[in-house]
Amino acid sequence: MEDCIFCKIIKGEIPCKKIYEDDMVLGFEDINPTAPIHVLLIPKKHIKDINEIANEDLNLMAHSLGVIKDIAKQMNIKENGYRVVLNCGKDGGQEVPHIHFHIIGGRKLNWPPG
Ligand code: 5GP
Ligand code: ZN
Repeated sequence: MEDCIFCKIIKGEIPCKKIYEDDMVLGFEDINPTAPIHVLLIPKKHIKDINEIANEDLNLMAHSLGVIKDIAKQMNIKENGYRVVLNCGKDGGQEVPHIHFHIIGGRKLNWPPG
């Protein structure tokens, strides 16, 4: 996707603070963190949102969950806990139309969200 912010980050056209990378996904710090730890994990394949996940993408999604667990350990939030958020669409509060997991922790988080 030509004008997608996160595709540009993947291509290195926009800088990011990289936390994790492999051939399928990229993890980097959120530019506007809502907690001491706020990492975004994105697939390198441009998928708009949950609704656009194809059957062939399910392995990529499963891989992402495994990476989230590893990032939680790397960021030292594994033991205390953390939240994984995947916003979808307008009502879900998704602002960037390239699917991304928020990995948020480092403090006690409120529940339920608004
Ligand atoms: P959404 O609201 O789509 O679920 O989350 C988008 C997230 O991307 C927001 O938390 C926002 O701070 C983050 N974000 C938007 N643009 C950039 C950027 O250029 N770099 C980084 N690192 N994060 C971004
Ligand atoms: Zn994209």
